[in-house]
Amino acid sequence: MSNNKEQTSISELGEFGLIERITKDIQLKNRSTIRGVGDDAAILEYREKQIVVSSDLLTEGVHFNLMYVPLKHLGYKSVIVNLSDIYAMNAVPKQITVNIALSGKFSVESVDELYYGIHLACKKYGVDLVGGDTTSSLTGLTISVTVLREIEKDAAVLRSGAKPNDLLCVTGDLGGAYMGLQLLERENEVYKVNPDSQPQLIGYGYILERQLKPEARKDIVEAFKKMDIKPTSMIDISDGLSSEILHLCKNSKVGCNLFEEKIPMDEQTKQMAEELNINPLVAALNGGEDYELLFTISLTDYEKIKNDPDFTIIGHIAEVSEGVNLVTAAGSEIQLEAQGWNHGK
Ligand code: ADP
Ligand code: MG
Repeated sequence: MSNNKEQTSISELGEFGLIERITKDIQLKNRSTIRGVGDDAAILEYREKQIVVSSDLLTEGVHFNLMYVPLKHLGYKSVIVNLSDIYAMNAVPKQITVNIALSGKFSVESVDELYYGIHLACKKYGVDLVGGDTTSSLTGLTISVTVLREIEKDAAVLRSGAKPNDLLCVTGDLGGAYMGLQLLERENEVYKVNPDSQPQLIGYGYILERQLKPEARKDIVEAFKKMDIKPTSMIDISDGLSSEILHLCKNSKVGCNLFEEKIPMDEQTKQMAEELNINPLVAALNGGEDYELLFTISLTDYEKIKNDPDFTIIGHIAEVSEGVNLVTAAGSEIQLEAQGWNHGK
């Protein structure tokens, strides 16, 4: 948070001055946004569409550590995390609201940084910031983002539609955000002991970006439309592959076989895992925060995706009686669990 610029206390500006400052440059992009910031409430107009609302709440010390997370990255990520939930419904988010609670240690300039990231994410993903609330806090920063999404009637893809024989697919690669976090934590520990040390981050740009500046897969929702694919079920990977697969299977009342060898991982993820003596599979299965999409498609759609580098087929859906299994590289079957896996089988 510290920088060389002069810091202005928030009380100097006052709540209304601060709101004015963080919202004055907003340019509304979506037709469905009739009125944004500035009145008692925003006004939105959705004709013949369905609207669903989703929120996330992030608190300092629990969800983020400002020792190594720059505020603009935090602002960006707070928005991305929410948008990702909407893309996981095969839907396009259009508006967000942002609530913040700030303790005394935050200056006007630090709020500027936070909003720099928020506005950047809104711009990149075509979302309007239409309101929020600003208040003070005794215990650091709390930030809550709410997203409104519009969905064509019956276009939403739920967690509950997977059928036996469907293919289980994932976008991008997994485990990177977790290994990026491990690296940041390690360097933070070194820094606490020796504040003059320089962090050793070179060569790990990709996994650091996966942790600090994740992206949501808007492109995938667009690709589905173009390829005329409607997944049978979908979820975003916020908590790790294991727990998301279990959610899909539970909601769809099916079993599944996941193939260890197929799980896509970046070289840096594997390299960092080796350096820290962590099994990279653990990072992919339990790490989380990758914000990739996990989905199932029916076998008839296989031809459409088989050569697309954005997608990896990692397994297939089975009858519920078969259970939810990880098939290891050696060919043995292990029952998947939300955290770790059970070696008992
Ligand atoms: P109220 O007193 O009705 O809560 P506020 O003075 O808090 O109104 O808010 C004034 C306007 O500024 C409203 O349109 C509100 O949605 C918007 N606003 C307040 N805080 C934020 C924020 N942190 N981010 C974006 N918009 C905000
Ligand atoms: Mg208010």
